[in-house]
Amino acid sequence: MSVFNLINQNSSLDNKIVAGLERLSQVFRILLWEKAKEHGLSPIQIQLLIFIQYHSTDKCTVSYLAQEFNFTKPTISDAIKVLEQKNFIKKNTDSSDTRSYTIQLTASGKKIVLETENFANPITEIITKSNEADKLILWENISNLILLLNRQEIISIQRTCFNCGHYTIKNKDAFCSLLNQKLLTKDIRIDCEEFELA
Ligand code: SF4
Repeated sequence: MSVFNLINQNSSLDNKIVAGLERLSQVFRILLWEKAKEHGLSPIQIQLLIFIQYHSTDKCTVSYLAQEFNFTKPTISDAIKVLEQKNFIKKNTDSSDTRSYTIQLTASGKKIVLETENFANPITEIITKSNEADKLILWENISNLILLLNRQEIISIQRTCFNCGHYTIKNKDAFCSLLNQKLLTKDIRIDCEEFELA
């Protein structure tokens, strides 16, 4: 049964939700393509630059990036090669193993990030106008959906509170033992710098 068969889709709320999510994924793709075209890069190359800008060095390796973006290592290596040729990144080779390296942005790479990282702004502007109660319901549903897809290994890496060793239950409430704070719905993170796999 396909949610794209309009008879199935329009007779079921579940199918309409899935079709709607698919439509939203197209919006991100289109917005990213527009930025990529402006700079003569591919969408994944822009995504890599933005990821590298905001994540620690241990995550800026070909293996980690391949898992993060669900691409093969050769595909990520090729994208990195182009970014290096364009002088947007530089490789830092490990002195004990010359085959492995971490990736760092150059000044030109940081400039590209500044010019492209706002690609999702049209969506942010709409969300900002929603009321707080609606946002909380949306966030609870999105974070749970991501978690369930992660449990099914469709989303490979997920640095979320629900998978984190610092996540605990205290007085019946979700709690982060590292930040020493209660985790209300609005506090749940899907990409946390302090994340440690449970
Ligand atoms: S360290 Fe970060 S991911 Fe882990 S529970 Fe605390 S806020 Fe959540």
